[in-house]
Amino acid sequence: MISNNIASEYLQLCSRTSYYKKPRSLCWRGISEVAITITTFSKRIRPATAMEEVKTKNVETLAYVVHGAGEPFKLEQVTLDELAADELLVDIEYSGICATDLGFQAGKIKLCPYPAIFGHEGAGKILAIGEKVQNKDWKVGDRVLLSMNYCQKCKFCRSDHPADCVEGTRLHLFGLRDNGTTAAKLNGADVRFHFFGQSSFAKRSFVHETCVVKVPDGVKDEDIASLAAMGCGYQTGIFEPSHDLDRK
Ligand SMILES: [Zn+2]
Ligand SMILES: [Zn+2]
Repeated sequence: MISNNIASEYLQLCSRTSYYKKPRSLCWRGISEVAITITTFSKRIRPATAMEEVKTKNVETLAYVVHGAGEPFKLEQVTLDELAADELLVDIEYSGICATDLGFQAGKIKLCPYPAIFGHEGAGKILAIGEKVQNKDWKVGDRVLLSMNYCQKCKFCRSDHPADCVEGTRLHLFGLRDNGTTAAKLNGADVRFHFFGQSSFAKRSFVHETCVVKVPDGVKDEDIASLAAMGCGYQTGIFEPSHDLDRK
């Protein structure tokens, strides 16, 4: 579980080391850019309320689609065909941009065919829960942070080390579910989705249950944008400011 203390400690490290001013530190530099963009387009979409019946089939959503190596992130209306039993429908409120997202968009990492929807540092609210999701404490309306999905079956997952999951590359980077399907369609054609189990560059996303960490009670709304990058930036980037501090 990610604690508030860890987040504030990390932010202090960043500010002390001017971490986010370095060109490769895209998680933190980019987070406000995406947060602003998603906030802007969220005004055009009526947020889900208790009265609204949330669809889990043929879900229409805006998403940043990349159509080829080096092509821009294009904001388009896509359809998500049907929520799987082990997924949650999440209204993405914020997403960091990681260097990995930009590497895939630029075509420097050639594992995920286009068109594709990237993003793997999402934060948002649960709109619907798949019928076989194991954690029965999660409720519609809960605020969640999204991290990397994992297989739950290999020896590392079973010994509580999901970061070392032997299926990680396949599950994170090909834009497909474990069963080889993609939920996203654009004009009826498949779009690679499920990036790191979440594709947080979609306003609404089908998120694998293993990505989800519930935000503890008491965390302020205004802190959520900063916490979004915990899903990858904290875990993979913490060494950078730590090393900077060591050198000083
Ligand atoms: Zn990342
Ligand atoms: Zn595994």
